[in-house]
Amino acid sequence: MKISIVGTGYVGLVSGTCFADVGITVTCVDVNEKKINALKKGIIPIYEPGLETMVHNNIEKGRLLFTTSLKEAIEQSEVVFIAVGTPPDEDGSADLKYVLDVARQIGKHMDHYMVIVTKSTVPIGTAKKVKAAITDELEKRGVELDFDVASNPEFLKEGNAIQDFLKPDRIVVGTESEKAQKMMSRLYKPFLLNGHPIIFMDIPSAEMTKYAANAMLATKISFINDMANLCEIVGADISSVRDGIGSDSRIGNKFIYAGAGYGGSCFPKDVKAVIKTAADYGYKLRVLQAVEDVNDAQKHVLVSKIKEHFGSNLSQMTFALWGLSFKPKTDDMREAPALVIIDELIKMGASIKAYDPVAMDEAKRILGDKIFYGDDPYDVLIDADALVVITEWPEFRIPNFKVIDKLVKNKVIFDGRNIYDPNEMVENGFSYYSIGRKARH
Ligand code: NAD
Repeated sequence: MKISIVGTGYVGLVSGTCFADVGITVTCVDVNEKKINALKKGIIPIYEPGLETMVHNNIEKGRLLFTTSLKEAIEQSEVVFIAVGTPPDEDGSADLKYVLDVARQIGKHMDHYMVIVTKSTVPIGTAKKVKAAITDELEKRGVELDFDVASNPEFLKEGNAIQDFLKPDRIVVGTESEKAQKMMSRLYKPFLLNGHPIIFMDIPSAEMTKYAANAMLATKISFINDMANLCEIVGADISSVRDGIGSDSRIGNKFIYAGAGYGGSCFPKDVKAVIKTAADYGYKLRVLQAVEDVNDAQKHVLVSKIKEHFGSNLSQMTFALWGLSFKPKTDDMREAPALVIIDELIKMGASIKAYDPVAMDEAKRILGDKIFYGDDPYDVLIDADALVVITEWPEFRIPNFKVIDKLVKNKVIFDGRNIYDPNEMVENGFSYYSIGRKARH
């Protein structure tokens, strides 16, 4: 079986590599020539655990190919996935220009029956637009060709993307023809072993499922953060509350960790996009509006605690930041809480020294020389006034507190992810601020 994946980012590269790994010949297409040239040499543009080895293996076996020519890629493909970015437009809606550009390119070059699948996260109605764009191009060429569109939203999580793709909680596919459904069943068969389900539905429901899933996850985070803030006010501890509610099987304990707010390339933009879709249809998604408002405010909570301790004038002060990526095990800094925190601290006159296990290059690209970059977690503590933990990387979980004590000027830690035990902090002589738990001194 031969397929193409258009867009070689987090989703396109992981999906393409995993399909290649089960024996399918996959051609990955991207307009970014630098990226494609690097990939041809086995240089991976993103950090994703396990991906590099898998890419190398499949390149060697000749099953994973890279090109900038969509025409060449789709020549023998039975299925073409569109996995390009859908960034937020100015009004919050998903910008479909890349998706529709690919659709037009497909229409310009296709010469046999194919299933064209949107894997990008796209608003309800996009598959119809993709179909119309392809039909338009075929008509311009005076060519009559049978083809199908399908929607196959991707649920992988950065940092665990390969496992999520190989062992999915579910695969959702929206189709409108039996032929397309059969092809998608065949393609995903190797991933269904051990009871991983594939759920077929109509196309608008598949498109909606992705937004509903991300909206639900974002809601869980904003809910627990809102509760955490109330816990601090009333003198409760969000970690105990989480244990208490999480043991209820109707609630569950996953994805209800209080913190410095959600970021990343998906939740912020998808929440905005579904709010906008609802508004376009004259409906107000009140819960999601609140989810977004709570999250915007949550990114500032850690800085409020820093102000509470040191006051508003932070000139002459230096903060050591641990973690820059929006979550552990990724170098992705899109919409990362770290960016908001850094911006605010700098505005208040502070200097920043930061360390992240994998996001340093990405941080340099975004922030340039606005901050100082350390070589390891302890390096950034030298002459810093306090430690601020923003991303819960495993290597930050059991640090050497004696070394921290020696290096930082003030024995104070601001923990944006609740990774330390408040009692242990007090025993070690630190002032300790976390989220949804009262400050300890
Ligand atoms: P990305 O920005 O990492 O990659 C997109 C790629 O598409 C880029 O390499 C870009 O050069 C390429 N591209 C743009 N226009 C193109 C064109 N005309 N032809 C060929 N290539 C083109 O994006 P991503 O994070 O992989 O996300 C892709 C889609 O998947 C988005 O809709 C996103 O919401 C969705 N998604 C992302 C994740 C995630 O964790 N990143 C998870 C699930 C779904």
